[in-house]
Amino acid sequence: MIQAVILLGAPGAGKGTLAEGLKRSADFIHVSTGDMLREQVKAGRPLGLRAKAYMDQGELVPDDLIMQIIAERLDGGPAAARYLFDGFPRTTEQARGLDALLAARHGGIRKVFLLEASRATLVARLAGRRVCQQCAAVYHLRNIPPRQADVCDQCGGPLRQRPDDTEATVLNRLEVFRQQTEGLIAYYAARGLLARIDAGQQRDQALADIINLLPVATPP
Ligand SMILES: [Zn+2]
Repeated sequence: MIQAVILLGAPGAGKGTLAEGLKRSADFIHVSTGDMLREQVKAGRPLGLRAKAYMDQGELVPDDLIMQIIAERLDGGPAAARYLFDGFPRTTEQARGLDALLAARHGGIRKVFLLEASRATLVARLAGRRVCQQCAAVYHLRNIPPRQADVCDQCGGPLRQRPDDTEATVLNRLEVFRQQTEGLIAYYAARGLLARIDAGQQRDQALADIINLLPVATPP
């Protein structure tokens, strides 16, 4: 039986780091739609090439194509496993699609973790981020400062802010996320699947909170 756990969180909430931590402490198959799309494109698979046509034009990959890629991923994996979805679903439509995919494989969603932090915290995390232009090492002005301002500790390369991480862009990304996920949050809350996690606290503590609330894995 396929059991799914979903991580839902705004940009800056720490989804990626928490997903890595969860994978280390529990047995999960990690599904990131972004990674899957990139792999499909790189491997030149038919679904990947169709998705690339949209991405090249700066358009969102349509839901039905994403659903097919996820179906392929589920069918390529073990029949009984725990899956961790990160960054998907993003809309209520996608959530219904995922329910149908799982139901057709005798599976279901066990828990949805909503990573919550104040807007001020999310903005501070993202706007303070600096990335090395040479080796892509990530720093943070306050949390992980480089030894010398604007210079990478590891390779001496210049540190820059990504255009996506300026305060104005971050505020816009947060607003888009809020509008996109409002319905999704209500959808899962109504089914008693939603658990709210304080993502403004230390990452280790947020991870411990998630692990405490993880449903016990049902033996196959
Ligand atoms: Zn560097």
